[in-house]
Amino acid sequence: MNRFHDQCNANSTMHLHSRRGIVIALASAAVLSSRPVFAAADGSPEDQQFMRMAIDEARQGDYAFGAVIVRDGQVLARGRNLGKTNDDPTAHGEMVAIRRFLADRGSAALRGTTLYTSGEPCVMCMGAIVWCGIGRLVFAASVPQVGAKMNQIMITSAEVAARSSFDPITITKMLLAPPVQESCQENVKASW
Ligand SMILES: [Zn+2]
Repeated sequence: MNRFHDQCNANSTMHLHSRRGIVIALASAAVLSSRPVFAAADGSPEDQQFMRMAIDEARQGDYAFGAVIVRDGQVLARGRNLGKTNDDPTAHGEMVAIRRFLADRGSAALRGTTLYTSGEPCVMCMGAIVWCGIGRLVFAASVPQVGAKMNQIMITSAEVAARSSFDPITITKMLLAPPVQESCQENVKASW
C-alpha cells in the first residue's frame, strides 16, 4: 500500500493543505450527499490490475496520463493523453477514454462504470466523470503529486465530488501511487 508521507520538505505545505482539503471535502460530502463519498488508500487485486493498465496507457501518452473504463471486470474503453497529437488541451487521458466510450457505446452504458486513471482527475475531467454518472473513480498519483511536477488546477476529485451530490461517486485514492518521501519530485518522476 502506498501512503502519503509528510517527510517531503519541499512540498510539505502543499501536501498538508491538500490532506486537510481532502478531509474537509469528505466531511462535507457526508453532509451534502445522501450517499457516501468514500475514499480508501488501497484496492483489490482486480483494482491493481486495471490500474496497471491505466499506467501502461500513461506510458504511451503525450503526457504521462492514462485511463481505462471498466464494467463487470471488462475494460470497455482506454485513453491516454493526446494533447500534443491532437493539438487539443482537453485531450486528457480520462477525456479520451470517455469520448471513445461514448462513441462506441453511448452514455447510458457509461453510467455506473469504474474509471481508473494514473493521475487524479483535474476539475475538467472530474466534472465530466460526474456528468457522465461514472460510479467509481480509482486514481494513483494525487493532485498534489501531479502539481509538484507540472501545471495543475489544485482542486481534488473529492472536493468536486463533495459539491456534486446529485450524482455521488465512490473514490479510491492513490492506488499504486508513486511514493512521496524525501525527494518528492524525483520519486514521482522515477516511479513509473
Ligand atoms: Zn484532466
